[in-house]
Amino acid sequence: MPKQSEPSGPTDAANPFETAKRQVDIVADLLHLDNGMREILKHPKRELSVNFPVRMDDGSYRVFNGYRVQYNMARGPTKGGIRYHPNVSLDEVRALAAWMTWKCAVVNLPYGGAKGGIICDPKHMSKGELERLTRRYASEISLIIGPEIDIPAPDVYTDSQTMAWIMDTYSMQQGYSVPGVVTGKPIALGGSEGRAEATGRGCAYVIREAAPHAGIRIKNGTVAVQGFGNAGSVTANLLHDEQGAQIVAVSDSKGGIYKADGMNPHAIEEHKKKTGSVVGFPGAKAISNEELLEIKTDVLVPAALENQITKKNADRIQAKIVAEAANGPTLPEADSVLFEKKVTVLPDILANAGGVTVSYFEWAQDIQRYFWELAEVNRRLERVMVDSYAQVHKIAESNHVHNRTAAYMLALQRVADAIRLRGIYP
Ligand code: NAD
Repeated sequence: MPKQSEPSGPTDAANPFETAKRQVDIVADLLHLDNGMREILKHPKRELSVNFPVRMDDGSYRVFNGYRVQYNMARGPTKGGIRYHPNVSLDEVRALAAWMTWKCAVVNLPYGGAKGGIICDPKHMSKGELERLTRRYASEISLIIGPEIDIPAPDVYTDSQTMAWIMDTYSMQQGYSVPGVVTGKPIALGGSEGRAEATGRGCAYVIREAAPHAGIRIKNGTVAVQGFGNAGSVTANLLHDEQGAQIVAVSDSKGGIYKADGMNPHAIEEHKKKTGSVVGFPGAKAISNEELLEIKTDVLVPAALENQITKKNADRIQAKIVAEAANGPTLPEADSVLFEKKVTVLPDILANAGGVTVSYFEWAQDIQRYFWELAEVNRRLERVMVDSYAQVHKIAESNHVHNRTAAYMLALQRVADAIRLRGIYP
């Protein structure tokens, strides 16, 4: 098989938007897209930069900088989270908006991609300050958001409460309740059943589908999960409960635990609730996060941070499947090493797309004012993930590329087709 350049997640060394554009070029070559189409795919459609004052608890005022980038809306309204972090930058938001465009296209949602962010340190702000920050930012970006235009959601250091404030601010301006302006809301305000577990559930479905192609059985097979948070713990629970896997290792920011004959992930959750960490779980051996990545296991689920599998450790990865519940856990150089070692990588834009898929269901329910039962949500999610995996796998096989390239090919082709069919205005 020829050695190939691969699109991948962000590198900390590189400007993330440069990485995102490089990915477009690589896949555009494979798809034989013309230069005009490449240029469109490498430019965000619309960017709003806002500077706004917030009254702090001590009576002073501070000016904050925020962004909202709508990358491409050829396939529908744009969708993407809002991040509160000191390191937010316009180029980071552009890259995240591009990746949302491809993620929505891989699972064939009628959405484009967007992202937003505010440069701030939410860990050092009170709840009142965060509410005022959120409401003012929502008001500033209300020029370009809306259920038919652009629908924000939670991301790093924003949550369902943040979404409730945005929904309320936008609704106050309209004069009536508009639940469909954001997703990831509390259920009491029009959130969806199953949204909280959707990323892990979607990831577990994709792993199940990929296992036969990777030559492994999930029943009694072994699983290691880096990052036992929302995405990681749900993936572990479902692989254990519904597919009979043995969870041999898990970790969080304080360290990892290992037990060769498996652990009950629900008991680990209880332990974490009581002690604040998975570390110290009875009967398990302590391991580091680095060691966890390299243990011999059938499935490895990176579900914590970016840039975990690098050129340095890729050669030591022993898992047969790497399922990227996290965004961007694998660096581009590591990708080619894994490909040569015949590790099946389930790329982030596919493996963690269950979250945005159920966000789409939430939006659809809000617009209809008609809510579905959990079983209905999960049934529809399963269908989306199973179909999307099958399409990505087929493209990978027929083009002799691995799953990440295949997922990008599927996504960019869909966006390019929509642009071509709509034509260039005027
Ligand atoms: P979370 O905060 O619930 O969980 C993150 C977990 O990672 C925590 O257990 C934390 O202790 C652990 N962690 C932090 N630093 C670590 C380190 N150095 N080593 C090991 N573990 C570490 O967050 P989440 O929502 O589960 O998100 C995790 C990843 O999944 C992120 O990359 C996120 O972008 C991605 N993701 C999440 C969703 C979603 O719906 N939650 C959707 C798509 C992608």
